[in-house]
Amino acid sequence: MAQYDFDMFTIGAGSGGVASSRRAGSYGAKVAICEDSRVGGTCVIRGCVPKKLLVYGAQFADAFAEAAGFGWTVAPPVHDWATLIAAKNREIDRLEGVYRDLLKNSGVRLVEGRGRLIDPHTVEVEGKRYTAANILVASGAHPVLPAVRGIEHAITSNEALDLASLPRRIVIVGGGYIAVEFAGIFNGLGAEVCLVIRGEELLGGFDDDIRVCLAQEMRQRGIEIRSRSQITGIDKRDHGFELATAQGETFSADLVMYATGRRPNTRGIGLEEAGVRLDAERAVVVDDRSRSSVPHIYAIGDVTNRLNLTPVAIAEGRALAETLFNDNPIQIDHRDIATAVFSQPPIGTVGLTEREARRRHGAVDIYRTRFRPMKHTLSGREERTMMKLVVDRQSDRVLGCHMLGADAPEIIQGLAIALKCGATKRQFDQTIGIHPTAAEEFVTMRDKVPEPKAAAAE
Ligand code: NDP
Repeated sequence: MAQYDFDMFTIGAGSGGVASSRRAGSYGAKVAICEDSRVGGTCVIRGCVPKKLLVYGAQFADAFAEAAGFGWTVAPPVHDWATLIAAKNREIDRLEGVYRDLLKNSGVRLVEGRGRLIDPHTVEVEGKRYTAANILVASGAHPVLPAVRGIEHAITSNEALDLASLPRRIVIVGGGYIAVEFAGIFNGLGAEVCLVIRGEELLGGFDDDIRVCLAQEMRQRGIEIRSRSQITGIDKRDHGFELATAQGETFSADLVMYATGRRPNTRGIGLEEAGVRLDAERAVVVDDRSRSSVPHIYAIGDVTNRLNLTPVAIAEGRALAETLFNDNPIQIDHRDIATAVFSQPPIGTVGLTEREARRRHGAVDIYRTRFRPMKHTLSGREERTMMKLVVDRQSDRVLGCHMLGADAPEIIQGLAIALKCGATKRQFDQTIGIHPTAAEEFVTMRDKVPEPKAAAAE
């Protein structure tokens, strides 16, 4: 190995790159990591963490509104956006410091600047070349904006987290994770929010009941959702922006945000020149051990566009370090990974959607409940929780658990373990619930939803 400066050189100090480098360092490998932005990557600096802090901030609006039903008199609450953003920034600064310390304490050398592959064993950063036996590409992804006239006026989630003030009327284009999460944040903090989606429903790929129920709850909270609507142009006006749609409508907003997907960061870092194969979305093509088409070049996390979630990137990164430096080959199982959407109300989900389960397994049984949570019997809020189990009829295995409602992300994490263990509906039924909770509904659902055909015949 002495022929190289390092055993591993990682491009990108986000969650995946840092986790992999630290694990490699812990086994005595000589590791360097380069980063051209802040250490911590999307999740810590401009994604999951700051977003969740703003979600917490927005949720106080609910608490104030609901308190009266429990006897509280609360003066009309006033929110100061600048205070929230400053507090959020302090926490992000602290976390970045923690990440830097973690790298240092694991003996990983941080090289600040943009890394570019020169050949399969050499990375150049700020004009200096470093050689390594293995190279790990963990460069993440970035928001993409469609080619729409006036798109330069739109912001992405990157800027949304650092606005100088909270605009009064906000249009968000897109109906994925990021769009619905920010719609909830801005709505909770008092802005008028309009979500513009080109399809019929939000959250493509999620269970249809979740998609429909979330839209109902968001509308109930005053968020306007314009479906089957395509923006064709954005014009700057004296006060804000005017948007035109292909359907011939115009409407105005003080801020236009696009959350129309993300693309892997694979440009300008020498990947293709080094022979690394990219797919049609420009993601690095890897095998189940995160190996690219070039020996000794690996890739993990969003740059591979497998399951674009922080814990997945971390798991892929650690598995790689185990494989390379601890003689412990690990493959990540990308099935049944739980995920959450921090919308208002939030979503937790694990396993197959009803649609996917029917496609793969044929006969499935569906159990579904929708109810007003106990808290809202006094709070007066009209919100309803939805929970659903998708069960394989033949084996009785639970294939999917879906929830929309308070604490759904916290509840679904536990159920993800049950699914990993291959739990059956019978075992769910044998589990005694915790009363009074919403979560107990997952072990007390007894009535199957009628088959779609039978239901249609009724
Ligand atoms: P998504 O891919 O989830 O959603 C993109 C949305 O934009 C879809 O509604 C899509 O519509 C729409 N869209 C795409 N192109 C256009 C266009 N040209 N015009 C109008 N609408 C368009 O992307 P996000 O940006 O929301 O999130 C990116 C990733 O980040 C996710 O895949 C997720 O893994 C990760 N993430 C995870 C979070 C979490 O775990 N809580 C939070 C935030 C992000 P259509 O459905 O019609 O294609």
